[in-house]
Amino acid sequence: MNHSPLGNARVAVLGYGSQGRAHALNLRDSGCHVVVGLRPDGPSWQRAKAEGFALATPAEAVREADLVAVLTPDMVQPVLYREAIEPNLKPGAALLFAHGFNVHYGQIRPRADIDVVLVAPKGPGALVRSEYARGRGVPCIWAVHQDASGHAREHACAYASAIGGARAMLIQTTFKEETETDLFGEQAVLCGGASALVQAGFETLVEAGYQPEIAYYEVLHELKLIVDLFYEGGITRMLEFVSETAQYGDFVSGPRVIDAGTKARMREVLGEIQDGTFARNWIAEYAAGLPHYRRCKQADLDHPLEQVGKRLRARMAWLDAPADATPALKKAG
Ligand code: NAD
Ligand code: MG
Repeated sequence: MNHSPLGNARVAVLGYGSQGRAHALNLRDSGCHVVVGLRPDGPSWQRAKAEGFALATPAEAVREADLVAVLTPDMVQPVLYREAIEPNLKPGAALLFAHGFNVHYGQIRPRADIDVVLVAPKGPGALVRSEYARGRGVPCIWAVHQDASGHAREHACAYASAIGGARAMLIQTTFKEETETDLFGEQAVLCGGASALVQAGFETLVEAGYQPEIAYYEVLHELKLIVDLFYEGGITRMLEFVSETAQYGDFVSGPRVIDAGTKARMREVLGEIQDGTFARNWIAEYAAGLPHYRRCKQADLDHPLEQVGKRLRARMAWLDAPADATPALKKAG
């Protein structure tokens, strides 16, 4: 692959979901030659076609490519690699991931003659695209797992630039750091921690006899205001905007809810991510047809919080905006 301008390279983007679509559009607008690789009967084929891309099966797309961006769901990547990528990848090509899971946990063991890199935008695909279109970009983290050509670093950075990341900020990382911190964040704080905190707060109020509608507003709905303040200016901004009473309550009660025991359990969660226990369990669960996953998901969906929320949100006219106007943090990584 010609290592300086990615513009001369042929890029195969496999998958046209949240990240795949955004990367493909941004790469094309940056002058790259892009082919989108998809299953012809898959759900994204028509959309990619309507948006003007050359389409091929993953195997065909890989055959022509100097760089292959693997942007399908993480759990389908090992089979995709074995069946469509490895047998067709040109000698010396580059393989790029947006999440390090499969390489880090040995589910994909890339051929020795290729470069293997990571470029992960720190935002959902919709934002990666909309910021690019405005002439800006979403910061990206990047890493090199395998440098067969001696130019893996340039390939990663050129790709991160072509999707707009360099207009904001590029941070070097490793597959290990990206994978472990990503899993920890979503488990301990973002998806796992935050939803369990909200459910526990709701249950505490309702069990004490308060109305579920009032509890919903207090522990779930208003969380957005607080998270928006965190997002815009950190905890500093939250403290600036809430009352003195709320601040005092934060100082005396926050550390009782999230205490040293919570942190010890967070370290336990991190330990199982680091030693591979979490990955092993998740891969086995996926292979078994997701029985535990489905049970837990159903329990979340059946929680009284969800029934109340549905009724209350039906009266929030401002929520009618199209779903991708507020891009959700969506990903298993
Ligand atoms: P997604 O679920 O939104 O889209 C996946 C795409 O792959 C769809 O177009 C789907 O049709 C296609 N697909 C599924 N199975 C396929 C197969 N067997 N062959 C070919 N195509 C197939 O996925 P996503 O959220 O964009 O995630 C893609 C990668 O990006 C993952 O590695 C993820 O961890 C990473 N990532 C996602 C985000 C995010 O915000 N969504 C952020 C950073 C990194
Ligand atoms: Mg994550």
